[in-house]
Parts: sequence; structure tokens; C-alpha cells
Amino acid sequence: MAAPRPGPLGGFPFPAGNGGDPGGGGEKLKRPCRACVDFKTWIREQKKVVSADVAEDLDKERPVECPLDREELGRSTWSFLHTMAAYYPDRPTNNQQEDMKQFISLFSKFFPCEECAEDLRERLKTMPPDTSNRYKFSLWMCLLHNDINKRVGKPEFDCSKVDERWRDGWKDGSCD
Ligand code: FAD
Repeated sequence: MAAPRPGPLGGFPFPAGNGGDPGGGGEKLKRPCRACVDFKTWIREQKKVVSADVAEDLDKERPVECPLDREELGRSTWSFLHTMAAYYPDRPTNNQQEDMKQFISLFSKFFPCEECAEDLRERLKTMPPDTSNRYKFSLWMCLLHNDINKRVGKPEFDCSKVDERWRDGWKDGSCD
């Protein structure tokens, strides 16, 4: 079989010839996936000899524009997902509701952090997206994010404030 080729985020090897299929039981990762771990772990995995202290220094001196690690990818992706939910129609057509469900399902197959994507696909089985209107979809996204916050040991977000955070800006005017 041909060697895996690197994917779009510098570490998501798609086995040559099968078009990827990261969610469909394709070939396992053969080298560290940068988008699957934080930067320090990635550096240590790349260069097994790098100590934790050196990795810490490298992290601080990191050039501005680099391929994303898991934290950066996660932050950017949540910004996109919550903003998309914040601007979803109040009265979506049936087609829009179905399209959004499809989008979330496909997203869970191609999100480049494979461990995160696998976890997400499991969650979607018991927590399918509620795309019936903007309010419900934003709330669903917030609850999903909170479940993942719990998994990774981050504080939960108050979902009653999701519009302030992602659409209207804080009531105290700090975003105006
Ligand atoms: P993030 O969690 O990225 O949040 C960004 C901002 O969103 C926060 O600053 C806050 O203002 C706001 N926010 C926080 N919670 C909510 C909420 N519930 N609703 C609305 N807004 C909110 N990392 C792992 O280590 N393991 C995983 O399995 C994993 N799975 C992921 C699955 C997905 C679909 C995504 C998008 C990311 C996943 N991540 C995972 C990454 C992780 O969720 C974080 O994005 C990453 O750790 C960076 O965290 P952060 O503290 O910068 O804030």
C-alpha cells in the first residue's frame, strides 16, 4: 500500500487512494498529528529528546503563523460553530434543518483532531442536533460544548448568555 500523505493540517494522514475517510475506519495515524494534541506534546512527540522545559520555551517563542495545534483548532472551530448557530434562521425551512444536520454529521467525520471527532460522533448518537430554530440550535451547541468542557476539565458556560457571547455582545457594553 502507498505511504500516507499529510493532510491539510500538517498531520492528518489520508491513506493515498482512498480519499481520506477519517471517520470510516480508514488507516490509523502513522505519525504525530499536530491538530490532535497541544503544541508542547506535539514538539515532544516530534523530537523525543526534547525535555518538558525546552518544549515550554519553544512554545513561548513560537512564530505567529504556524499550523494549528488542538487548542487553537478547538478555539477557532468553536468560534465558527457558535457564530454559525447564532446566525441560523429563526424559522428554518425543512431543507435548511436537514442541511444543518448533515453539516454537523459530516463535520464530525472530518474534524482534523481524530480523537475529538471520534468522541463527537459518539455524542451525536445520543445528542443529535436540534436544528428546529435558531434558539434551539444555539442552545444545543452550547450544551454540546459544555459536555466537552467537562470532558477536558474546563468550566461550564452559562448557556443563557450564549447570544451575548456570540451575537449581541455583553450587556455591559464592553463589546460596543
Ligand atoms: P474553548 O473551549 O475553545 O472555547 C472558546 C470560547 O467559547 C471560550 O473562551 C468561551 O468564551 C466560549 N465558550 C466556552 N464554553 C462555551 C459553551 N458551552 N457555549 C458557548 N460558548 C462557550 N479538546 C480535547 O482535549 N479533547 C477533546 O475531545 C476535544 N473535543 C473537541 C470537539 C470539538 C467539536 C471541538 C470544536 C473542540 C474539541 N476540543 C477537544 C478542543 C477544546 O474543546 C477547546 O477548544 C480547547 O481546549 C481550547 O479551549 P479554550 O479554553 O481556549 O476555550
